Amino acid sequence: MQRYLLRNSMDNKYDLLINGKYRPAESGEYFRVTNPATGEPVAECALANVTDTRAALQAAHDAFQNWSRTQARARCDLMHAAAAIFRQRINNIAPLLTIEQGKPLKDSLKELNFTADVVDYYAEEARRNFGFHFEGDGAPTHSFTLRQPMGVVAAITPWNFPVDLLAWKVGPALAVGCTMVIKPPSEAPLAVSEFIRCFVDAGLPAGVLNVVTGPGHTVGAEMVTNPLSRKIAFTGATATGLWIAQEAAKQLKPVTLELGGSAPFIAFRDAEVELAASQALRRAFSHAGQICISVNRIFVQEEIADVFTTKFVEMARKLRVANGLEVPDADLGPMISEAGRQTVREHVSDAVVKGAQILTGGHEPEGAAYAKGFFYLPTVLTNVTADMRVMREETFGPVAPITTFKTIDEGIDKANNSPYGLAAYVFTNDLNLAMYAAERVQAGGVGINVNDITDIRGPFGGMKMSGIGRELGQQGLDTYTEWKHVRVMIKKPE
Ligand code: NDP
Repeated sequence: MQRYLLRNSMDNKYDLLINGKYRPAESGEYFRVTNPATGEPVAECALANVTDTRAALQAAHDAFQNWSRTQARARCDLMHAAAAIFRQRINNIAPLLTIEQGKPLKDSLKELNFTADVVDYYAEEARRNFGFHFEGDGAPTHSFTLRQPMGVVAAITPWNFPVDLLAWKVGPALAVGCTMVIKPPSEAPLAVSEFIRCFVDAGLPAGVLNVVTGPGHTVGAEMVTNPLSRKIAFTGATATGLWIAQEAAKQLKPVTLELGGSAPFIAFRDAEVELAASQALRRAFSHAGQICISVNRIFVQEEIADVFTTKFVEMARKLRVANGLEVPDADLGPMISEAGRQTVREHVSDAVVKGAQILTGGHEPEGAAYAKGFFYLPTVLTNVTADMRVMREETFGPVAPITTFKTIDEGIDKANNSPYGLAAYVFTNDLNLAMYAAERVQAGGVGINVNDITDIRGPFGGMKMSGIGRELGQQGLDTYTEWKHVRVMIKKPE
């Protein structure tokens, strides 16, 4: 691990990647990345400004001419080569991800292995970027379609899955021939830098991928508003996504926006209670609840509510909260920041004031091991009502509010009572009920008796205020292409 932490220089500094070269920011300034489990500094990252960002956009623009015309097979081979290098380094990069982000080591390894799979998957898709053909129906013509790369992609990502969520963009964008400027999250930019380094080491031409680290409101904003970017791929908060959508609209730039969520978990009376409780538990508390598809609101049909709640609370009390480097298989590590933890405190206190009962948690863990990190105990609330912030907003922390419903439609209506629509989970052994609910729940992804809606081959994205567009699968590739219709008049040869 030390080798990676110190690889850029003896000062432990990470530089920008612009036009194939690693270099400091124009200002020469760096910002500090800290470990959320200990508060200790981890490394320093170049603090890019608007000038650096423009240089990165220009480099991506210049590189596009050649990269977009590279043979698909060459792009495929290069991406596989980068994925192979990355796989060799995963065991070294995973501790870095844990140190900067806080997730337990086992979860860092899971994220990075999935990242490698995504790159390999889209490497192959580079060779399957097909259009289609048809014959004219009013004239002797043949029509075919080209799917051409959109141009320079501005990719802006959050800290919760900093590498994986970037791979969802880099994979398809590179596969179809786009070039990119990447802005990693300021809290967790290091593992991302190591991921991109694998493409450089695999021989990616200069300028195809550029990395600028720095604040979203300067670097990210320039990436969105500069006319050189032709597509915005963003994952992050809904408020940021709304601003990006408005700015992008001024230049008619296409956007993919993967935004916040408030996933409902509906357990119907015939569900396997033990399974439902354990699946809800993992999805509510892993990554300290900081996943866009985390279970945020639990609805249990009255007949099984007591037994479900009892089991859920029993299991929640046994979860291990720890520094994920010291306890690699901990259930949850710290939250990313004090600001995030403060939001959790406020949501819990708002719920309690309005009548909720805390069944477990509701405060930070005690002891020296937790003193400097942003830890918060898994927290279970009952007697919750729709007006509480935990039920209306995205808490993005380890809090699970449980409430009940009587009828099937009431359960579905309560689940849909949210501005968000990213993921939903339905637990039942009745196939008809499962399909009835899956059709009616307002979410871009529905898990039936499973607590994860992510599969490389399936579209991932949100309805309502959870976003626009889809990543992963075929849809995740389409979003980086422009369709071009070529119509050819066929004449009888002389
Ligand atoms: P933010 O929107 O605050 O930040 C995300 C990224 O956007 C960061 O890189 C940030 O930069 C950058 N950014 C901030 N302001 C601007 C701006 N004006 N213009 C361009 N870029 C900007 O989100 P969080 O980091 O708080 O991430 C958590 C949110 O992400 C949650 O709401 C969560 O639900 C959502 N999310 C959604 C997912 C999905 O797939 N739907 C998946 C994962 C998370 P910096 O912070 O460095 O200044």
